[in-house]
Parts: sequence; C-alpha cells; structure tokens
Amino acid sequence: QLDPSTLKAFENAAAGHDGVLSDSTGELLVKPCTDAEADFYQQTLQDHPDFAELMPTFMGTLHLGTSAQVAESTVVQDFVHTSQVQRNQRSHGGKIATETAIVLENLEHGFSKPNVLDLKLGTTLYADGTAPEKAQRLDKVASETTSGSLGFRITGMKVWNGESFDKYDKLYGRGFNAETVKDGFATFFSGLSVALKQDEAAELLETIEAEIAKARNALERLESRMYRASLLIVYEGDNAALRTLVGGVYKTPRLQEKAPTRSEVQQSEDEEDEEDEDEPPTAYRVKMIDFAHAAWTPGQGKDENTITGLKNIEKQIDMLIARLTA
Ligand code: ADP
Ligand code: MN
Repeated sequence: QLDPSTLKAFENAAAGHDGVLSDSTGELLVKPCTDAEADFYQQTLQDHPDFAELMPTFMGTLHLGTSAQVAESTVVQDFVHTSQVQRNQRSHGGKIATETAIVLENLEHGFSKPNVLDLKLGTTLYADGTAPEKAQRLDKVASETTSGSLGFRITGMKVWNGESFDKYDKLYGRGFNAETVKDGFATFFSGLSVALKQDEAAELLETIEAEIAKARNALERLESRMYRASLLIVYEGDNAALRTLVGGVYKTPRLQEKAPTRSEVQQSEDEEDEEDEDEPPTAYRVKMIDFAHAAWTPGQGKDENTITGLKNIEKQIDMLIARLTA
C-alpha cells in the first residue's frame, strides 16, 4: 500500500509548515503533526463518522522513533530515513518538531492543475490556557486581518495561470480587510469565468458553497472547539479539463440531441460501476483540515468561533455568484 522508500517532499501545499511528504502515486500525504491532531483524526473516525466525511480520508498514524528509540517496523524505519533525507534537503525553516505523522488522502490528487485556497478559521485563534505571549501575538494578527472581522483569513493560495502556478503566501491574505477580501476570492476563482459559461460557473460556485454549508451545519449540531483549523477549497485550474468535467463527459446525456439507445445506457452504467471503485474525477473538493488545536468538547456547545468563519466564507461566495448572474 504505502511504499515508504518512494516518499518525496510534497511541493504543492498552499500554506503551512514544510515537511509534508507525498507517496509516488500522489494519492497520499504523510503529514508530520502533533499527537493532538493524530488523536483528533482517530477520535473523529470513531465518534463522529459523519464529520469524518468532511475531512480528508484518514489512513492512519505513523509513530516515528528517534534514533535512540529505534522504531520496530521497517515501514516506520524507512519513513524515518526518508524524512531525515527530506529534512536535510529542505532546511528552510518552519518544520514542526514531532515524532508523529498522519497519512491522509491527498485532496489535490486526480486534478490536472489543482487551484488551492487555504482559509484559516476563527475570530479567536487560540484556546484558553495558551501562553500569554502567543495569545497576544495571535490577537494582534486577528485584529489586523479579516480573522478578527470575519472569522477567516486567506492563509495561502495557488492558482494556475496557464503556464505555472501563481503562489500567494500568508502575507497576501493578511493584506485584506473585510471590504477588500472579495478581491482575493475573485482572484482565486478567476479561472471559472475563463473556462465556463456564466451559469456553469455560478452553478459550480453554488455546489462549493453547499459543501461549505454542510460543514457548518455539522458544526452547528456538534460540540467542538477548533482553533486555527482551515477550510481547503480545490478546483480544476486547467481550463480544458474543467470544461470537460463541468459541461462535457460527465453530463453527456444532457447535451445529446436524441435519447441514448439501450446499449448506450447499459454501457454508461457499466462505466459508472467501474468508477465507483475509485473516486470519479471531479471539478472541485472542499474539506476541513489542520486540526492541531481541535477537540470534541461535549458539554461546551457549538463552536461559534469556527461557524462564524464558515458563514462569512459562504457570504463571499454568494457575492461572487451575484456578480456572475447579475
Ligand atoms: P500546517 O498549517 O499546520 O502546516 P495543514 O494541515 O494546514 O498544516 O497543511 C498545510 C498545507 O498542506 C495546506 O495549506 C494544504 O495546502 C496542504 N494540505 C494539508 N493537508 C492536505 C491534504 N489532505 N490534501 C492536500 N493538501 C493538503
Ligand atoms: Mn494550516
């Protein structure tokens, strides 16, 4: 399944720490993380399987040994070796010190040119009990950005320009205020209006918005606290591929003049059966990620902090749709 000798640095993140690895097929990511995040994935799978659907598929946890405390399984040893190689190759900061990693579905897999937007959620960015200096630093960032005013901010983004990815770092998102952040969304979704007809673009945005509402609705009826979790939005950045996905192959019957013959119907049903085994190609993915400071908190009520951010992201997408359909 996971061949650790073929792990390589994942170069396609929109934001976050270095040190994420990908397998050779690109289907899986190995993300070094805190024990708290690994536990959160595990617990969600057990106790809140519905919410697990809104997260990347979780394949398991790897516990890395230090060299003093050598790991027993060869899989883990190879992984430790590989990640040490990576560590030496990519020494430019920002890697977390940990002996734990989670294996996740790579949400960019299956796309030709995945456009990725990472939106960090919450008006308050830390839990009670956080060290005062860190709390002050996070309060300052919130007060200077849309985190404070809207409960989300753009922390990173990459957008295919036809030849390469335009990359937007965390400072890009910090530069917006509550009025201007719509320009960030317009930039991220600019590919839609190039590739698609206006009604198709609006329809795709509505589908993405519905997916965000699904996450918000789940949080409305659950009891959790998620500080600095992200909403990750991915959509196909290759114009031709996007057109095919939205208007072409997967909705062929609509475009056909005459009704399909019985053998054509049978054939397309067979194809669907085959595709069921693997995820069918899709124009977009929307998931919540980054649960380093997330917990299920029975008795504490819903997570208004995170819900506010999701609501305001939905509003931003509403505004884009309104502009398209005006
Ligand atoms: P951190 O911010 O703590 O470094 P994140 O979980 O936010 O860790 O991941 C950092 C970046 O890696 C994200 O912005 C995203 O671009 C990418 N990423 C994380 N998880 C996935 C995933 N399952 N599929 C695709 N990309 C991911
Ligand atoms: Mn993150």
